[in-house]
Amino acid sequence: MAIRYEFIKQDKQTGARLGIVHTPHGSFETPTFMPVGTLATVKTMSPEELTELNANIILSNTYHLWLRPGHEIIREAGGLHKFMNWDGAILTDSGGFQVFSLSDLRDIQEEGVHFRNHISGEKLFLSPEKAMEIQNALGSDIMMAFDECPPYPATYDYMKASVERTSRWAERCLTAHARPDVQGLFGIVQGGEFEDLRKQSAQDLVSMDFPGYAVGGLSVGEPKDVMNRVLEFTTPWLPQDKPRYLMGVGSPDSLIDGAIRGIDMFDCVLPTRIARNGTCMTSNGRLVVRNAQYARDFGPIDENCDCKVCKNYSRAYIRHLIKCNETFGFRLTTYHNLHFLIELMRKVREAIKEDRLGDFRDEFFESYGFNKPNAKNF
Ligand SMILES: [Zn+2]
Repeated sequence: MAIRYEFIKQDKQTGARLGIVHTPHGSFETPTFMPVGTLATVKTMSPEELTELNANIILSNTYHLWLRPGHEIIREAGGLHKFMNWDGAILTDSGGFQVFSLSDLRDIQEEGVHFRNHISGEKLFLSPEKAMEIQNALGSDIMMAFDECPPYPATYDYMKASVERTSRWAERCLTAHARPDVQGLFGIVQGGEFEDLRKQSAQDLVSMDFPGYAVGGLSVGEPKDVMNRVLEFTTPWLPQDKPRYLMGVGSPDSLIDGAIRGIDMFDCVLPTRIARNGTCMTSNGRLVVRNAQYARDFGPIDENCDCKVCKNYSRAYIRHLIKCNETFGFRLTTYHNLHFLIELMRKVREAIKEDRLGDFRDEFFESYGFNKPNAKNF
């Protein structure tokens, strides 16, 4: 088995899990946040910097690497780890999300999805078998089953048909997966906000015995309380001895609330994407460093942060770089934001060890500003 989950303990206040996921490219403690490297790079960060940041697993995108440079080139390079010079663990998604979100022209059939390449407009076809072929060529440690990502909101009948198709596709993924000894394949639980469909989806997938499970179809525009409720009735159907991954979630409040509901792994482009817009996550909430008020502010982005950016560079300097579209500015904000989330998850694990995650949540939400009326998402 390529992927193994070691359960350590549960937080007595909230029930959050502390564990270790073992992969062919090292082990990492959970709950954890995975930076996103869409095109085989976490934008503006070198693999050496990711190591410095204590990121030990990153995510990369099957769809994007299939189009550019093509999975055959990455196979020839010796796999994605070698191609990008990253020796830590890699998780690849299945391409399903991009097919459903980037292509305006798609046709979902039982055999797979016909759609248009979002760059060239060329017609393409992605199926469970093709998603496995590409991910096998990439050589990621954790692969994702090809699922349908239904729109939000979707009707009950649509969602039911979609969940059933996703289960049939999951079976086909297991059959097509060529390297289960060195690459772990996770199933993806769908079902929208419908409790019985989430249960059905989880039970279908658990009966297929994947080495890990993801909860998909969340963070697609639904309110936070809906996401929390769905997690509350979904995670109890997942086995205790396998890792659980909440896809596409990266706001600090959702990471903590997800961990409290039994999630071990998270990924999102949020910290890196907002960094390139000049927005930083800080211990006192979000800070838009490109704003005029920081033009003469020679203090750090976050006075409570011990990252190398906050030790060495001022808000005024970083604001100047970002206003001038200087790459170095994007590097500095990206580094700080990744440090913030990776450090946040370390603190979450520390709190679980000491059975005080509930208290930690209260303190963090208060200082970040999530308790204020109309608080921003991140
Ligand atoms: Zn910092």
